[in-house]
Amino acid sequence: MSISRGRGVEAAREIVLYGAKMAEKGFVAATDGNLSARLPGDEGFLTTPTGVPKGEISPESLSRISKDGAVLSGSPSSEWPMHMVIYNKRHDVGAVVHAHPPFATALACANVALDQPFLSEVVISLGKVPLVQFEIPSTDELAGRVAAAMSNCNGALLANHGAVTVGQDVRTAYFRMETLEQAARIFLYAKLLGGGKLLPEEAVSRLKELGKGYGLSPLPSQACSNCPVASGEDGIYLKRDDLQKMLADFARLAAKGQFR
Ligand code: 13P
Ligand code: ZN
Repeated sequence: MSISRGRGVEAAREIVLYGAKMAEKGFVAATDGNLSARLPGDEGFLTTPTGVPKGEISPESLSRISKDGAVLSGSPSSEWPMHMVIYNKRHDVGAVVHAHPPFATALACANVALDQPFLSEVVISLGKVPLVQFEIPSTDELAGRVAAAMSNCNGALLANHGAVTVGQDVRTAYFRMETLEQAARIFLYAKLLGGGKLLPEEAVSRLKELGKGYGLSPLPSQACSNCPVASGEDGIYLKRDDLQKMLADFARLAAKGQFR
């Protein structure tokens, strides 16, 4: 079953684009990592296929999952259970990204969390990044631990494994992974220089406040993502409800002679 229109096409495009960026940036090696997106309405989810390098994904190779978690097409990522529990727990999450970026993964292997306020940018755009205790990759046990840790944060380190980030869309989740990797690298350098100095509490509150109007702006094409009209490759699409409402409004105004 393929996604042929509207925001589903956009989500597939984003998974392919940011999967390739993960490979380019060295956040993954060989077939590491996975990305997924929640589709609008009741259309379920798209996830990267298992065992495919993230620089070699095509929209057709993505696996489609129903809103209840049934595999509708393709071979989903082995970490799909982890993605699914996050979606079930966090209704604000529209995308999940999992990778093994070297600096973040080094901290995860050393069992170090990034949950102290040491870097302004991280307080503003990412928040605390807890460490999830080790579980075997792809298991329900790992999925359960990650979901519990991510009930109110946008990123987590997975002990002896890698990292996971979430966002309202794939682009946001991907850039959170970039921020997380950059923060892990800076944290490590600061440690080598004798240890980072934590931000004072008052500065943390002001940075959080600043964060509300800061950070990643939507792309112009995403700026009206709440709009009922979605564009596809060869036209625009309205949800049935929105179309019915527009036609009813039109009929009412036409009956009053307002279109003559
Ligand atoms: P998949 O290829 O099944 O997505 O697995 C990659 C991975 O990173 C496992 O933790
Ligand atoms: Zn992994």
